[in-house]
Amino acid sequence: MPPAEPLTQIWLALLGVAMLVGGLVGSFLNVVAWRLPNGRSVVYPPSACPCCGRQIRPWHNVPVLGWLMLRGRCADCRQPISARYPLVEAACAALWGALFVAMIPTPSALAAPAILPAVGAFAAYFSALFAISLIDADHFIVPDVISLPLIPLGIAVVALLHAAGAPVPSLPEALLGAALGGGVMWVIALGGRLAFGREAMGMGDVKLVAAIGAWQGAWPTLLLTIFGASLLGSVVGLGSMALRGRDRPAKIPFGPWLCAGALISWVASDWIMARWLLLPT
Ligand SMILES: [Zn+2]
Repeated sequence: MPPAEPLTQIWLALLGVAMLVGGLVGSFLNVVAWRLPNGRSVVYPPSACPCCGRQIRPWHNVPVLGWLMLRGRCADCRQPISARYPLVEAACAALWGALFVAMIPTPSALAAPAILPAVGAFAAYFSALFAISLIDADHFIVPDVISLPLIPLGIAVVALLHAAGAPVPSLPEALLGAALGGGVMWVIALGGRLAFGREAMGMGDVKLVAAIGAWQGAWPTLLLTIFGASLLGSVVGLGSMALRGRDRPAKIPFGPWLCAGALISWVASDWIMARWLLLPT
C-alpha cells in the first residue's frame, strides 16, 4: 500500500482525536446521567464506587479500556460495574467519529470554512442530546437544565458558524426552527391532552424539539425528527409488546427517539429526502 497523502494522514489523525474526545465526553455523560437527576454536582466529588465508596483511580477511568482492565469489577470491593458505562463511552466515541465523517467526508473537505469548529459544536450538541436520552430513558424526564440552554446556545452558535461560512443553518433558519419546533410539539401535546384527557406527551419534549430546531433549522429537520421518532418509537413499542406478550404498551420515553431522529436528519437528510421522500431539501 502506498503511503497516504499528508492531507489524508491529517484527516485520519483528526478522526482519531474526535473519537478519543468522544470517549472522554461519554465518560462524563455517565456521571451526568447518574448525578444530575439526583440534583448532585456533576464536577465534584470525583467518581467513586457506588458499592464501597472508594474513589476510582485515574487509570481505571480511561474510557472503555478502564472497564476492560478491571474486567467489569470494582478494583477494591470486586462488585460488578455495569456494562452500560463502557457502552455509553464507546457509543459517544462512535457518535463523534460518525459526525466527523458525515461533516468532513473527504480529506479535501477539511479546507471548507469553519468546518472543524462546526464539527466540534455539533458533536457537543449531540452529546447533550445523548445525555438527555439517557436521563429520559431512566427517569422519563427531559431535564430543563440541559434542554433550555440549548435553545439560545444553538441559535447563537449556528448564527456565528454560518456567518463564518460553515454548512449550518443561518440565524433566520435557527429562529424559525426553534419557534416552529416548539410550536408544533406544543400543539401536539395540547391536542393529545384534549383528545385523550391525559398527558400523551410532556412539555419536556416540546422544549427538546425547540432546541433541535434551533441547532438544525426547520426544514427538513422537524419533519424527519418528529416522524422518525414516532416511527422508531412505535416499532420498538410494538416489538416490546409482542416480546413481553402484553396487550398494553409499557411506558416509553419519547426523548431518545426524538434525539435519534435529529441525528438521522443531520447526517442523512439529503439522502432520505431525495431517495425516499422525493422532496427537496
Ligand atoms: Zn467498590
